[in-house]
Amino acid sequence: MKPFVYNSSASRVVFGAGSLKQLEEEISLLGAKRALVLSTPEQRASAEKVAALIGDRCAGIFDQAVMHVPIETAREARRHAEELNADCAVAIGGGSTTGLGKAIALESSLPILAIPTTYAGSEMTPIYGITEAGLKKTGRDPRVLPKTVIYDPELSVGLPVGLSVTSGINALAHAAEGLYAQDANPIMSLFAEEGIRALAEGLPQVVSNPQDIEARSKCLYGAWLCGAVLGNVGMALHHKLCHTLGGTYNLPHAETHTIVLPHALAYNAAAAPEAMQRIARALGTADAAQGVFDLAQSLGAPTALKTLGFSADELDRCAEIATQNAYANPRPIDRSSIRALLENAYHGTRPAATA
Ligand code: NAD
Repeated sequence: MKPFVYNSSASRVVFGAGSLKQLEEEISLLGAKRALVLSTPEQRASAEKVAALIGDRCAGIFDQAVMHVPIETAREARRHAEELNADCAVAIGGGSTTGLGKAIALESSLPILAIPTTYAGSEMTPIYGITEAGLKKTGRDPRVLPKTVIYDPELSVGLPVGLSVTSGINALAHAAEGLYAQDANPIMSLFAEEGIRALAEGLPQVVSNPQDIEARSKCLYGAWLCGAVLGNVGMALHHKLCHTLGGTYNLPHAETHTIVLPHALAYNAAAAPEAMQRIARALGTADAAQGVFDLAQSLGAPTALKTLGFSADELDRCAEIATQNAYANPRPIDRSSIRALLENAYHGTRPAATA
């Protein structure tokens, strides 16, 4: 066995349908009395529900979370937290809302209690991102890792089916790359394989019945495991491509991950055979790259970058940017192969069998 380092990070996880009811008790376990509740404007009603549930322990609501955490929003939220004398932040929503909580915690060390309602996985990572003058800066800091996470599948029932699928495949991408990460370890690989299996089983059931709590539970459980992988081991080519497409071309986060993943896996297949076998086994298919492509297509998710408004004229520049400061990757990165990968993702071509 390859030597490895395993560092477990200390988050408390409360999982189960109806577990939101435990929120007040969980806030008190953190030693907090005045929670600032965070949400996007679209999820204001959920924030109000949380506020009502915790009564006097709610210091106020800040409902201005948006994608990629603009510095101006982060500053306003920090000011709110200070003025209200908040001693913890409760973030109810997806990666954008958790991200806002992280921006507050980065300066104040305010503990975060996260209540995820998508499958993005940010609640399990010490990674933050803040956008200033159009540039997203990311970093790692243990202060931004939520102290407690309440996973209540009832809260994801309202997540639109399209976003459920792309968000689920976004989660799957963390696990897939975790399996061939430079610093992969056997524990996170167990999380990764089980996370992919749970999502591959749960997502089709969510598509046939979005109200199915068992199916929602499987997806949320899978998202938790995949998020933990993202938080604990390094990501590779797929994440670099998605950061480029999201950061430079402002393409939507979860959809971009869904389209690019099969192509990134096909690119790495020959260099990471064991990881591919585990991904394929978890998906119940013969080939990892084709398995992800077929899963996305069968669930009605987008498969081509051109459908997101990405222009073919940008392929050369995108390949150029994506190959600068490349992340560690099993197969060496070269610009013409990356351009070919991007062209396949642009057209939505099903990857050739690699197994
Ligand atoms: P999101 O948080 O931007 O949510 C998308 C939309 O869906 C929002 O309008 C939100 O209010 C709405 N929504 C969320 N849950 C809902 C529900 N259950 N019902 C109805 N509507 C709901 O999307 P996301 O994909 O979760 O997060 C994307 C952001 O998170 C990106 O900025 C990404 O970079 C970041 N992210 C960070 C990390 C990390 O480790 N730091 C990890 C993953 C994602």
